[in-house]
Amino acid sequence: MPRPILATVHADALRHNLQRARERAPDARVWAVVKANAYGHGIERCFDALRSADGFALLDLEEAQRIRALDWRGPVLLLEGVFEPRDLELCSRLHLWHTVHCSEQIDWLAAHKTHQPHRVFLKLNSGMNRLGFTPAAFRAAWARLNALPQVEEISLMTHFSDADGARGIAHQVAAFEAATADLPGERTLCNSAAILRHAATALRVEAGEQATERLSADWVRSGIATYGSAPDHPQRTAADWGLQPAMTLSSRVIAVQQLQAGDTVGYGSTFTAEAPMRIGVVACGYADGYPRHAPTGTPVLVDGVRTRVVGRVSMDMVMVDLSGLDAAGSGSEVVLWGRSAHGAVLPVDEVAAAAGTISYELLCAVAARVPFAA
Ligand SMILES: *Cc1c(COP(=O)(O)O)cnc(C)c1O
Repeated sequence: MPRPILATVHADALRHNLQRARERAPDARVWAVVKANAYGHGIERCFDALRSADGFALLDLEEAQRIRALDWRGPVLLLEGVFEPRDLELCSRLHLWHTVHCSEQIDWLAAHKTHQPHRVFLKLNSGMNRLGFTPAAFRAAWARLNALPQVEEISLMTHFSDADGARGIAHQVAAFEAATADLPGERTLCNSAAILRHAATALRVEAGEQATERLSADWVRSGIATYGSAPDHPQRTAADWGLQPAMTLSSRVIAVQQLQAGDTVGYGSTFTAEAPMRIGVVACGYADGYPRHAPTGTPVLVDGVRTRVVGRVSMDMVMVDLSGLDAAGSGSEVVLWGRSAHGAVLPVDEVAAAAGTISYELLCAVAARVPFAA
């Protein structure tokens, strides 16, 4: 028997979640964001369930080639644009749309020989200070692109730093509006948090009717929501947003230990039993992508019942509390996150929160040695 750890992708959940994003931004076209190998789910594994998307947005040229190899003829957007001049040849050949966020990328385009003029997304740095032209430099960048024969169409783009939090997006929407007001072209602003929290209603109040239209028209970029996780956990949960987990990481109990009061568990003896108790040893460790920082108390499902991690996560194993789970033992199903065969759901957001990180990191970190269910 192979080691019992298994990752499962739920196509029904992917379809459902993409539909939820559509409902929140009904006038927009939706990019399914599939960077980082579809947030660890696998591009090929997700493609069929996501093909109702209006386009696929990603980072790596290699991933763009994989989407084209699946015979996707629709839009593909490189979210960071090209990394070196020769990448533009692939953009021409595969008809990739690409972000332009710095003047070097415009220089490369100006020197690029092509019969296929490109569609580009000019990115504004509206306050996050990661990628994009400052408001002061934006118009000049637009004018340069607009004068290039290599450019067919210019769309306008920005990214929010606080769509999931208290600061919100109004200040960045205002900066975007001011910098782009009379420029033509389609717009794309919203990530998952902005789609769920702002696209439908809130902005009507925050920034006025016109901004609302701008926000929910044209294109939105649905990343983590597509995979069924709440971008603003723990303020809101995936269930609050009507999202379903698209990935289950499951394994089995491979051994049981009976502890007496005073016995300790695992490396560093970080857990001590206060009374007699049973623990299960699970075939899943940090070499599978389970977070080593998940402390005692991190939730886990055994036979569909919620219990907790005890002691330190090791490379290939983690121990779980079987108190009150008298029927559980070797062979019992363990769900590290996602859906149990018994029906219960353990949101990856809760596991991430316990480990001091976010769901994105856990989903992307599922290790290559973990097999995926067919
Ligand atoms: C990753 C990414 C997204 C998607 O973000 P989520 O929070 O996962 O929805 C959207 N836009 C850009 C530019 C990104 O890099």
